[in-house]
Formats: sequence, C-alpha cells, structure tokens
Amino acid sequence: ATAGVQGLQPYQPGKPLSELEREYGVRDAVKLASNENPLGPSPRVKEAIQAHVAELARYPDGNGFGLKRALADRHDVDLKQITLGNGSNDVLELIARAFLAPGRGAVFSEHAFAVYPIVTQAIGATPQVAPARDHGHDLQAIRAAIDDTTRVVFIANPNNPTGTWLPGRELEAFLAEVPRDVILVLDEAYVEYVREPDYPDSLPWLDRWPNLVITRTFSKAYGLAGLRVGYALSSPVVADLLNRVRQPFNVNSLALAAAEVALGDAEHIARAVALNDAGMQAWRAACDKLGLAYIPSVGNFLSVDVGRPAGAVYEALLREGVIVRPIGAYGLPNHLRITIGTEAENSRAIAALEKVLA
Ligand code: PMP
Repeated sequence: ATAGVQGLQPYQPGKPLSELEREYGVRDAVKLASNENPLGPSPRVKEAIQAHVAELARYPDGNGFGLKRALADRHDVDLKQITLGNGSNDVLELIARAFLAPGRGAVFSEHAFAVYPIVTQAIGATPQVAPARDHGHDLQAIRAAIDDTTRVVFIANPNNPTGTWLPGRELEAFLAEVPRDVILVLDEAYVEYVREPDYPDSLPWLDRWPNLVITRTFSKAYGLAGLRVGYALSSPVVADLLNRVRQPFNVNSLALAAAEVALGDAEHIARAVALNDAGMQAWRAACDKLGLAYIPSVGNFLSVDVGRPAGAVYEALLREGVIVRPIGAYGLPNHLRITIGTEAENSRAIAALEKVLA
C-alpha cells in the first residue's frame, strides 16, 4: 500500500444495534451514535421505495435525472451544477480524486470530520491540519495553513463532531481570500438543523466563486443514511470534472427514488427539526444538572466532556444498552458525541449516563 494508506486509521462506525444485542445480551438498545434521524424517513419515502422494488433488475439512471431535476428546482441551480454521490462521503472522495494527488495538500481543521483525512491520504496527498479555536474552525488558522501545494480546503458548517458553526460574513471574507485554484468545500451535512440567524445561505455564493463546492446529504435530517445518497453543488466546470471521476451508477435506484420524494416532504423535516430542538434542550439541561461541560452544537448531536477518558464511560453505557460515540480519534479523548434521539431515547440515555458517572 502507499505510505498515505499505511498512515490511515480505519474509520470507526457506530456499533450496530445487533452487535450490542449479541455481545452484551442487551435488548431494546438505544443507538445515538451516528447522527441519524430518530424518526427515520418520511412515510411517503417508504412507499416510493416499495414502488421501485419491481425494477431492481435494471441499472439505475446513471445521470440521476429525476433527483437532479428536483434538486435544481429546490436550490435554483442548473442541472449541470449537480454531482450525485453514494452518500456525501462519495462526493468528498470524488473531490479528492479530481483535485488532489501526491505533492498536493488539503487543508482542514483539527477536530474536523474524519473522512477528510481519509480521502486526502488515500490519494497520496498531504493533510494540512489547522489548529482549532474553542473546538471550532478558526478561519485565520485555516487561511494560514494554505500554501502553494494546497488544492482543496474542507470546512464543515456545522462541523461534526463539535457542532460548531461559522457565520456568513466570516465565510464570505474567507472565500474572498482563498486562491482561485483552491477548491473550497463547504460541507453542509447538518444544514437543516441550524437555527442561527447568522448562519449563511451559501447557495448564492456559487455564482460568485467558481471554486466553491457545497455538499449536502440525505443521511441526516432526511433520515436516509442507510440508502446512501448525497450531492455537491458547484460551478458547471467543477461538476463536469467530478462527474468524470464518478462511477457510472454510484447512486442506486431506490436511493434516487427515495431522495426525490424525501425532498418534497418539508413537513417531515420540520418535525425532525422540532424534535431535535426539544431533545437538544433536554440534553443541555441534563448536562448542566450533571455538571458536565459540552461544546455548544447547532447540529443533531452534542459532544459532552465527561471529565475522564471517555472510552470507559462509552463501555459502561454499552452495558446499559446505550450506544454513543467516543471521539478520541478526533482529538477529543474526554468527550462523548451523543446524537439527539426521541424523547424516550434521550430520557433513557440521560438516566444511563447519570448512573454510569455516579
Ligand atoms: N459530512 C459530515 C460533516 C458528516 O458528519 C457526515 C456523516 N457522518 C458526512 C459528511 C457524510 O454523510 P453521508 O456520506 O452519509 O452523506
């Protein structure tokens, strides 16, 4: 393998529920480990999937026309500005394959999303890590980390696992400073959950910055993580390059059909966001009561400082039937990242946390 691949740590996915049942004999476990939507997808989506089962012998539409049409209408962009991916992770990898190579660098922040180093190192390019500030992205440090070798900057807004976010005016000033031969990836996987008035509507920036790529996903608020579908919005030139390295049928037919319908069910998103707001409140109150610090988050998860190495707390929670995520691999060894669940899931997890920390 290449030195870049040798240097990688495998991505650690959240434990599946079945594994917990098998290993610990726990029934009715609660999984709050992967920032999924606890409501699942819109009921209309399930019908759309059923309707498409009859066509499984056929290849999917390799251009994803129906979904692209719906996305173009929704975001007021041209079809030529859209790249579909097998999850937004796939799109992140397409960006790395199109723009990175050995001798080139990708800048991202400390505590940034784990897939940025994976796609960077897998291609033999150099990760250029900028220090964080108050756990969040520090645009000045990111700017300073850009050098002549840099071809891509990855910024998640909000970021996972910290839930921190950047306001529009700061990002706009930053965009003006980024060299035009550097692709700026604005990863908006959690955009639907953000309520902050200063959070930017970044879509109009696409007209001004041909090096901007905005990525989004159906895995979070849309509740379709299992189907794997995400997308990038960019200039037509960049989209053309990404589509050249894309595998012909990278998004499956059930995912295409489901995502198109999901996009049309605004009520379901509103329900998911309202549930998240209430759950976030409950978790913050619980942390305050337990005297635990947390990183203020605008996503559907909260990273909590448990005041000791989090691995043991994670294990103890597993034995209580609660799956969360230790984030030592993100440089936060005392934090657990907890996805906001339903009211019942949150109550159970809060009670379990209280018990194991006592
Ligand atoms: N970006 C961020 C910041 C994420 O947290 C995630 C999901 N963990 C993704 C992208 C990728 O999600 P998906 O591939 O399911 O679209």
